[in-house]
Amino acid sequence: MLPLNKPYLSGNELYYIEDALKEAHISGNGKYTKKCHGYFKDKYGFKKTLLTTSCTDALEMCAILLDIKNDDEVILPSFTFVSTALAFYRQGAKLVFADCRRDFPSIDESKIEDLITPKTKAIVVVHYAGISCNMDMIMKVAEKYNLFVIEDAAQSFNSFYKTRPLGGIGHLGCMSFHETKNIQCGEGGMLIINDNRFVERSEIIWEKGTNRAKFFRGEINKYGWVDTGSSFLPSELNAAFLFAQLEMSEIIQDKRLKIWNKYFNEFKKLKLPDFDLPLIPEYASQNGHLFYIVLKNKVRQQKLINFLREKDIYAAFHYLPLHQSEFYKKRHDGRKLNYCDKFSDCLVRLPLFFELTDKQQSYIISTVVDFFKTEKR
Ligand SMILES: *Cc1c(COP(=O)(O)O)cnc(C)c1O
Repeated sequence: MLPLNKPYLSGNELYYIEDALKEAHISGNGKYTKKCHGYFKDKYGFKKTLLTTSCTDALEMCAILLDIKNDDEVILPSFTFVSTALAFYRQGAKLVFADCRRDFPSIDESKIEDLITPKTKAIVVVHYAGISCNMDMIMKVAEKYNLFVIEDAAQSFNSFYKTRPLGGIGHLGCMSFHETKNIQCGEGGMLIINDNRFVERSEIIWEKGTNRAKFFRGEINKYGWVDTGSSFLPSELNAAFLFAQLEMSEIIQDKRLKIWNKYFNEFKKLKLPDFDLPLIPEYASQNGHLFYIVLKNKVRQQKLINFLREKDIYAAFHYLPLHQSEFYKKRHDGRKLNYCDKFSDCLVRLPLFFELTDKQQSYIISTVVDFFKTEKR
């Protein structure tokens, strides 16, 4: 079976892990954590980053940093992974789910303003498939109502809005290095702090509510408990693994984009009338994180997925709407989110991973074409 994803090893992971072991500092915030932070500063200009054990953790840090409390409202998409919502729910927020755009699975920027009330505290956006939301529109509405913007850039390593790297535009950004993402270390993530007001406190929350980071920089002569927090920092073993991937990221990105472009160009040439291809707005440059097509309805979606599985190709739908989830539906305010339901019912992801060969990809494409030729509408 051709899998949907396959984690790629760039080659130096074990070498750097061994080096970290020799340093005799394998808890967090050592040499490799600093190397990773340095990488993001040099390459993307992120002034302050903190590696975390997951993107879920980075999102939880955001909810703590914003002091989200009972009755605060947070606007976010429903078509996303649970973590986007969970971080804010845990702090007591009321979740106000927004619909997708008609032509695009990310949040409909033009409908956000209608959802704002005096209780709204933050807007959380997700750049689905690493394809940017319209950040100028989002930052403008946030500014008008004095709200914070958090980018769930879990899928957006090396994606851009105009010339700006995703995760670096909102007040805070979160990235994932889970094994299903482009650059990975098994489980891992990163908080990006773009608003200076959060810098000092983010380090404290990161290290169990202590001012330990300051102590190790020699800025204070003892450290203690000064705020809330948790243990959000990953071990040096994960950071060493991640650094090996970051060093190879250009090769990884080039390959993924090549695969993505082949899917897109081949399907476009064939002009198949039965599905839509992904939309890339002109302001977005994407990172080949995932390739999807959008079918006409749920029956077609299921039929295509089954057809491909019979031919040893693992394709998959994506998110189940959070506003209709078993956990949250009784708390949701009842608004219908039609386009969110549409993308849940109609979107199909095709295999995309570094080691996918050209021959395997051609097989996937011709099998999809077979489906549309043979299966009745
Ligand atoms: C993968 C993902 C997450 C969770 O990332 P973890 O590192 O596994 O916690 C959150 N949001 C989105 C949109 C994701 O794709």
